[in-house]
Amino acid sequence: MKIYNNIEQLREAIKNAERPIGLVPTMGFLHQGHLELINQAKKDNKTVIVTIFVNPTQFGPNEDYEKYPRDIDHDINLLKSLETNFVFIPERESLYTENHNTWVNVEKLDEKLEGHFRPNHFKGVATIVLKLLNITTPDNAYFGQKDAQQVQIIKQMVADLNLSIKINSIPTVREYDGLALSSRNVYLTKDERKSAKEIYQSLLLAQTLFEKGINNAEIIKKNVSDHIIKNIKNSKIDYVSITQESSLEDLQTIKDSALLSIAVHVGKTRLIDNLILSKK
Ligand code: AMP
Repeated sequence: MKIYNNIEQLREAIKNAERPIGLVPTMGFLHQGHLELINQAKKDNKTVIVTIFVNPTQFGPNEDYEKYPRDIDHDINLLKSLETNFVFIPERESLYTENHNTWVNVEKLDEKLEGHFRPNHFKGVATIVLKLLNITTPDNAYFGQKDAQQVQIIKQMVADLNLSIKINSIPTVREYDGLALSSRNVYLTKDERKSAKEIYQSLLLAQTLFEKGINNAEIIKKNVSDHIIKNIKNSKIDYVSITQESSLEDLQTIKDSALLSIAVHVGKTRLIDNLILSKK
């Protein structure tokens, strides 16, 4: 496994790498969710590049950029054990020079769901992902369904900007009790961690209601919200949404399937999760 901090040195190494190349962009503090992305990338590609970069431009002014968990040594050991080919750990200054003035806005999709609560988040995400795609020139790139809106935004960007890269989305990896793995789960206190499993329970409740024939989105959303408020102390819901999966347009009535997305504060920690509601 080769580790690069320098863009030009990585580019040089990639010139001689065997294709197809798979890219897995991460912010580090790796967990099993990231590892599943890497495993899939290994299956599909001859060369796998993992990037670790806590991207400052996707954090709002009052968000957790400074305290976002980091453990580079642990990450490097994990990546070695997976036989990752290249790891790219750039410095902030090399990706964002003083006169960085170009941004990628994926309009419409970036206003929905997370967009209401994190206004410039997807501008930061789309910009860093395009930069990483340009630097690493992959054939495939891998993203988690855990961040369903991010997947749609990246797919839209790749289509709109005519990039010849396949975007692959990987199912959400969960803890034994259903909580979606997230680097931010370490913020939870013991009690919060216990009750956070109810987020997934609320998604399953929605799926059960849908399977029983309830297709009115308002009724399902109300049941999900009530479940969360009742079962998670100190919780504050940002949204419970039922949308079409790719356009993220709100649905009133669910036909065959829909994306159910949740953002909820558990104490001081903001968690997101989602499930595709579908007829089994
Ligand atoms: P992050 O390091 O949080 O920016 O995540 C890097 C990639 O891992 C993103 O594509 C995420 O969607 C994905 N990811 C994060 N958590 C999970 C999870 N629990 N299961 C699957 N993929 C995940």
